[in-house]
Amino acid sequence: MIQEEKSKKIILNTIWRVLTFSWEKDKKTLIIFSVVSTASSVVVYLQFTSFSKIINDIILIQKDNLGFTRELIVDSIVLGLTFLVPAFLNNIRNFYGTKRRTELNRHLNLWMIEEFSKLDIATVESTEYQTRLQSAQRWGVGSLNNVGDYAVSVLADIAGVITSAIILWFVFPPLVFLAVVGSFPIYIVSTKYALEIFRLYWLGTDETRIADNRKQQFYGNTSLVEVLLFNLTDKLRKEMKVVWAIFDKKIVNASKSKARGDMLSMLFYVITLFFAIGLITIKTIHGELLIGSLFLAFTTYRGFSQTVQALFYNIAQLEEQARYGERWYHLFSLPSLISSGTGGKILCLETPPVIEFRNVSFKYSESENYVLSNLSFSIQPGEKFAIVGENGAGKTTLIRLLARIHDPSEGDIFVNGVNLKSVDIKSWRNSLSVLLQDYASYNYTVREAIAISRPGEPVDDDRVKFVAELTNATDFINKLPKKYDQLLWKGFQGGVELSKGQRQRLAVARVLYRDTLLTVLDEPTAAIDAIAEEKIFESIENKMQGKTVVLISHRFSTVKNADKILVVEDGKICEFGNHKELMFKNGRYCELYSMQANRYLEVTEDTEDVVETEENLMATS
Ligand code: ADP
Repeated sequence: MIQEEKSKKIILNTIWRVLTFSWEKDKKTLIIFSVVSTASSVVVYLQFTSFSKIINDIILIQKDNLGFTRELIVDSIVLGLTFLVPAFLNNIRNFYGTKRRTELNRHLNLWMIEEFSKLDIATVESTEYQTRLQSAQRWGVGSLNNVGDYAVSVLADIAGVITSAIILWFVFPPLVFLAVVGSFPIYIVSTKYALEIFRLYWLGTDETRIADNRKQQFYGNTSLVEVLLFNLTDKLRKEMKVVWAIFDKKIVNASKSKARGDMLSMLFYVITLFFAIGLITIKTIHGELLIGSLFLAFTTYRGFSQTVQALFYNIAQLEEQARYGERWYHLFSLPSLISSGTGGKILCLETPPVIEFRNVSFKYSESENYVLSNLSFSIQPGEKFAIVGENGAGKTTLIRLLARIHDPSEGDIFVNGVNLKSVDIKSWRNSLSVLLQDYASYNYTVREAIAISRPGEPVDDDRVKFVAELTNATDFINKLPKKYDQLLWKGFQGGVELSKGQRQRLAVARVLYRDTLLTVLDEPTAAIDAIAEEKIFESIENKMQGKTVVLISHRFSTVKNADKILVVEDGKICEFGNHKELMFKNGRYCELYSMQANRYLEVTEDTEDVVETEENLMATS
């Protein structure tokens, strides 16, 4: 019961929020749409009234042999108008309805983008966020827009119900009572069975979710390729066929119950209608009602039940749409996982700062175990700082703390002596360029895809070319049909698809184009071969003198040139120093370095063997 009340409160709150949003964005359209919709639903009863008046006029004229009376002429004109006005109103309603929907859709999408940008990265990566997002996305922005439409429909229906009740009251008050009682079963069927079918379709069932999921395999490029490669069609088709059959059965059963309910409720309604007709017929026979009023009572009584039916249906739809739309508000109400999102200290760095980790420990909010324990080290201005360690050692987590995607669970990070927690995030991120392992690809031209890292500034072509050279991206850019003006992504006409390695070079170029005091790269060249990687880092080191670069890499040939190397193992600092010092120490770094060097030698020797064998073979032949 409490749950039910809470849910009603949430629904009402959502309807209120959507309507106030709609009001704030365009009052005029909302008012016109609501007024015209309401008028349309009322005007039909005026039609009944004026027609019944004409019948009464004619009866009186016949009775008293009066000929054309002034009243008959006026009533005929009014009847004519009641046909003209709805057509006119419908046109206005359609126009403002479309205008309202289209414009509100744009405003809602912009609002969502704004809300998305307020989320912090840690929240975005949380399971809770992903779950809420999936649930909200299923209905898109349309559900919020529908709330407005159904709210106006409910308003119009209420006006229709009130108008018809008033007319019935004037004709013969007990008719109102009969009409309300007669409509009650319609209410039950509308809220119970009709809603059930609606929910089955729109909320989805486990079956539809499975079927949708399987169907998605055919929609995505990558997944369809696998479906074809593995010949998965028959398997997936069979699964979908089974679950769809189960779903269809549920729909058919619910429709059957609804049809039964509809029949019974209509039967009940017709019984009350008979009563009503009986009552008004007796009154007419006794001369208390004219024939026209009999006609009016009958048509209004029927109209009342139809409007009540529409009202219940629209209320049910409004509730459901509000329930779906609320998921967006639910999504954006997630609390921030980062402290002091706004109002922090603004950092105005002119030179690379001293960064100090002091006894930093960290565990992810959804996990029990510490990923980093008690790390203390510092990064000096302008240093090329490498972090190495096995998979899962905590390297990425460490730079995520530096980028303030998360705050340390214990200990602190200081930037020029200022605790990072008290720094305004935006100002800190302005001093940073971070390239994580999962990076975005931008479907723009090559030039724009590089320069996008400095939004709000005109594209500096010289700098674009400079960073493209630093990252060896010029190799492939110059071969593209339109070079720097080449549109990326095949979804665009004339667009091209880049390989993974090419995309990664572009991503590194983008980060370097940003040209900040501190650059953080997490395995930025994993999809690029070792030789190209060495070349890229050689040029980065040469051209980025004076700027701090923090780099995670598995390739020791690259790492060995760094000023400082931090070796992380199981979330702890294992060793710290430069290549020479660490090799001299003959510890973990030396072991890992030698292991990779030996493997490299083996591969080189193997390659040489193959070449030799091939050469021998060629010589012999
Ligand atoms: P590395 O970069 O050295 O490979 P990571 O920092 O990515 O290591 O991961 C360190 C540990 O933290 C791993 O055990 C990993 O499973 C865990 N981890 C990483 N990201 C998350 C997360 N979002 N939630 C919970 N645990 C995570």
